[in-house]
Amino acid sequence: MTRFAPSPTGFLHLGHVASAAFVFGIGRAIGARILLRIEDHDRGRSRAEFEDAARRDLAWLGFEADATSRQSDDWGYYEAELERLGKTAHVYACDCTRKRIQEGGGGDGGELRYDGRCRARHLPYAAGVGLRVVTPAGVQSFVDGRLGELSQDPARQCGDLLLKDRDGNYTYQFAVTADDRREGVNLVVRGQDLTASTGRQIWLGQVLGRTEAARFYHHPLIKDPSGQKLGKRFFSESVASRRERGERPEDLLGEALEAVGVLAAVRPVTARELPALFQDDPFVREVTRG
Ligand SMILES: [Zn+2]
Repeated sequence: MTRFAPSPTGFLHLGHVASAAFVFGIGRAIGARILLRIEDHDRGRSRAEFEDAARRDLAWLGFEADATSRQSDDWGYYEAELERLGKTAHVYACDCTRKRIQEGGGGDGGELRYDGRCRARHLPYAAGVGLRVVTPAGVQSFVDGRLGELSQDPARQCGDLLLKDRDGNYTYQFAVTADDRREGVNLVVRGQDLTASTGRQIWLGQVLGRTEAARFYHHPLIKDPSGQKLGKRFFSESVASRRERGERPEDLLGEALEAVGVLAAVRPVTARELPALFQDDPFVREVTRG
């Protein structure tokens, strides 16, 4: 099982189209089931209208998932997982602001790193207080399906992982790790900007009882001609508005695939053609050979 997991905090743009193309292209090429997961763990920013638009956009583009889930359908699951985690790991309350954490200095890869200040403060858990888990030092090594062997030490990158933020939202790191385990996701295909999160998710998954880590494939991001990640201007036109303007889905797909280097030149591509485009990918060949 693999998954495409948009957050309904805005309209889908061409970057999402490229990401979905990798998930569905690789997933279908290796015969995996595909889950559409709506990641609305951030209750303050998620909107039903964005979820509705994402579902319409994906259907229009021809991306048909085998199953769907939505995080907000079952908050009780995360609460229970958090409680279970607290029995085997040291979960503690933290009221530090972002500004306070910044003063503690940065971590590996220029990330914001939490220095563990509240570990021994024994704060009561209450409104306006977050929850963290002690993240022990240790290197997580894994083989990325595209980037090869990687090693990360979450304690040096980000420090004790935040599980629930001060607004009471389950965090991305905690929610997706819990979801991937529950939903039987054993292949994660996602953008390269999330590569640094992998080691911590493998570690947390183990603590939550995963016996075998998922495999990971981090795809390239859309670049502009000078090689920089494209900014807001390129992404400002949503899939929804292009759809409503009468553009064709195969043209958006072709444009997205060219922008991430899957196609050498823009041409129309339908979702049905995607598996063939990925069949020579070294990761797909490795998986299908066996
Ligand atoms: Zn703190």
